[in-house]
Amino acid sequence: MAFLDTERAVLEALLPGLDAALARHPLAELEQPGSPAVAAFREAGGAALLVPRQNTGIGADPLQAVRLQRAVGARCPSLAVATTMHHFSVASLVETAKHGAGFEWMLLEAVVGKRMLLASGFAEGHTGQSILRPSIRAERRGGEVVLNGSKKPCSLAHSMDLLTASVLMADDDGTERLAVAIVPAETEGVSVRPFWRSTVLAGAESEEVVLADVRLDPQMVVLTDVTADAVLDSLHVAGFLWFELLMSAGYLGTASALVERVLRAGRAPAAVRAALVTDLDAAMLAVEAVARSMRETPDWGEELLVGALTARYAAQDAIARTTAAAQEALGGMAFIGSDEGAYLASASAGLAFHPPSRGRMAEPLCAALDGEPLRVG
Ligand SMILES: Cc1cc2nc3c(=O)[nH]c(=O)nc-3n(C[C@H](O)[C@H](O)[C@H](O)COP(=O)(O)OP(=O)(O)OC[C@H]3O[C@@H](n4cnc5c(N)ncnc54)[C@H](O)[C@@H]3O)c2cc1C
Repeated sequence: MAFLDTERAVLEALLPGLDAALARHPLAELEQPGSPAVAAFREAGGAALLVPRQNTGIGADPLQAVRLQRAVGARCPSLAVATTMHHFSVASLVETAKHGAGFEWMLLEAVVGKRMLLASGFAEGHTGQSILRPSIRAERRGGEVVLNGSKKPCSLAHSMDLLTASVLMADDDGTERLAVAIVPAETEGVSVRPFWRSTVLAGAESEEVVLADVRLDPQMVVLTDVTADAVLDSLHVAGFLWFELLMSAGYLGTASALVERVLRAGRAPAAVRAALVTDLDAAMLAVEAVARSMRETPDWGEELLVGALTARYAAQDAIARTTAAAQEALGGMAFIGSDEGAYLASASAGLAFHPPSRGRMAEPLCAALDGEPLRVG
């Protein structure tokens, strides 16, 4: 069983042909704006990955999903980021559907049937702003809900069929509650503006999505139970669990692609090669441990989320160590001859930039370990 064989076997079993379709393109082509990767993912039926089987989806379990995502990240880092946003939105819809009125299930079946891609807009482009405190307000006007504001960066901005966006919805008593709006991309008032300036991860289409007087049917706005004290409800616990695990697995895959180059080159001492693999695989095993617990436990609680965050921050550290050592092991001629190694190293550092950042979570994690509820503020 060679390095990454397990992950590529899961990818091939669940989304046949995608790995080969991606491997046909040079890395630089997959990672640039207008990347063919998103279309290949859609073509392979990737939209259905987390939709339950009884709703015509593939119904991948958490362990299969993280392994698949590592394989995707090893082939195309931008696609791993972009599709994590899709899977996270689908997983959140599945969670909402369990308590909803039924329209979510219809939507999920449409996602499968029409191969629809879901973008997820939580950030608004300001450092230090919690993704759970959006500035976009949803107002009730007559029989509709009207949205104004913008989301940036928002991956899949050009390919999305639906946008799921966090908004603040004023209740009749004046209190504001976090809600998630589901906005069809072709709705009047939705537009996309350039935002992403870096060449790194530019294939993820992380641009700005502007919402100008966007009118929605109220059933497209799902209220959550997160209030100002930032204690998470079950929808957010489930959402963060999927998000942290899939993101970590995707970026571990990207670092794995660099380590795979060291293994293939075969010149580095065995001790160096073994150290690179054990470091990354240990981090992946932590991600898989939480995924297995999700598979085995029907009630997903804070304990699991603390585990997912622990695995994610450990993955960040493993990525930093292994990508530096792998570039050194590949040597100067590899660095001079191609920018692929440097690219994979810098793309895999992106895990640090997804919410919730380590700095923001240090106090809440320590408080949770002292027995307080976990707050993600
Ligand atoms: C490739 C990529 C794709 C993305 N796609 C999407 C997308 O599709 N949808 C989406 O919603 N978002 C997306 N994002 C954005 C992401 O969700 C973040 O919101 C954004 O990157 C946060 O920016 P920031 O690091 O400047 O801010 P912050 O997270 O605020 O952090 C900046 C720094 O300040 C520190 N810091 C901040 N607050 C505190 C605090 N209270 N205590 C201590 N330290 C603190 C952090 O630790 C960090 O070091 C994407 C990001 C990337 C990199």
